[in-house]
Amino acid sequence: MRASIAVLGGDGIGPEVVAEAVRVLEAIGQRSGHDFSLQAAPFGGIAIDQFGTGLPDQTRELCLAADAVLLGAIGGPSWGPAAPVRPEPALLELRRLLGVYANLRPIQVHPALRDASVIKPEVLEGVDLLFVRELTGGIYFGRKTRDADSATDECRYSVTEIERITRVAGRLAMTRRRQIVQIDKSNVLATSKLWREVSERVIHAEFPDVQIEHMFVDAAAMHLIRRPRDFDVLLTENLFGDILTDEAAMLSSSLGLLPSASLGDGRRGLYEPIHGSAPDIAGQGIANPIGTILSAALLLRHSLGLEAEAQRIEAAVAAAISSGARTADLANGTGATLGTRQMGDAVLAEL
Ligand code: NAD
Repeated sequence: MRASIAVLGGDGIGPEVVAEAVRVLEAIGQRSGHDFSLQAAPFGGIAIDQFGTGLPDQTRELCLAADAVLLGAIGGPSWGPAAPVRPEPALLELRRLLGVYANLRPIQVHPALRDASVIKPEVLEGVDLLFVRELTGGIYFGRKTRDADSATDECRYSVTEIERITRVAGRLAMTRRRQIVQIDKSNVLATSKLWREVSERVIHAEFPDVQIEHMFVDAAAMHLIRRPRDFDVLLTENLFGDILTDEAAMLSSSLGLLPSASLGDGRRGLYEPIHGSAPDIAGQGIANPIGTILSAALLLRHSLGLEAEAQRIEAAVAAAISSGARTADLANGTGATLGTRQMGDAVLAEL
């Protein structure tokens, strides 16, 4: 197959971790006979320095013409709150441009890394979660007001917005344990009541084999830590998803391990590790590239339909970890550690 992939390294450790994912994609392409055209473009702080905007025209056009976009991370102290132009709006703009409203975050815990998590190893056994978070609506995008005495943030969701993301969750649940927990605060919020009604209706009508259960966000926050293996697909709105996915990331031993995919109605998606640009370790060649390599696997699965190739990358990552490959964030201060490039080599060796 032929596919064009836009590659946005971004800032800090972004280009370092993306370079390893690119090597893995190239290796998979060569071995499986696929022709992947990987084209890099400036994005984020580095683009602000060069072009005065975080999303220059050529990057915008490349992403719109691509089958998928692979992103590292953006931001850093050079573009802090006092900077005249900040990188974060460029990411919101890119998501809007690509129409990606569904953010997928799979979380599994490799058996060899259970001891490295802050959670007890026996609680982590068998954890396999998939968050489906609404990404382009809700309180982050609502009307905001501010006067001397008060401020407001409006939270609004339409039936259509809830229907389309529920369908994404339903389709994904069909490939897994067929269980969705929809998370809200419907005892107090009108938008949450709508989420409950609409998600229930869509799943019953269109995915009769999938079970849907509803849970208040405060209870979900507790159960995620107490009995995470009971969850399969977790469907939730933007704000709750933002918080719960970071909480759930702590089940895994390092932020550096976790991938994400953002999808819309078509096949094109945006794929990035969940971590940021990690300015504290940027330029040292020690960042963990696994979250980005696993994001490349999600890209093959969701945008290119290459399930077997995606599984080969995931198996290679698991095998590298099983055989003891550890970047500094995974090593817990013990044993020899690998740099970013060497971790990429370890995954490539397993491929
Ligand atoms: P961060 O995720 O960059 O780093 C948090 C901690 O985790 C740091 O100690 C870092 O060294 C470590 N870490 C992160 N990724 C790692 C990896 N792959 N390997 C090893 N260690 C890793 O979060 P932060 O420090 O809060 O934010 C730094 C910058 O990143 C900020 O400018 C923030 O706005 C930006 N950010 C960007 C994105 C994005 O691009 N989507 C997401 C989150 C944060």
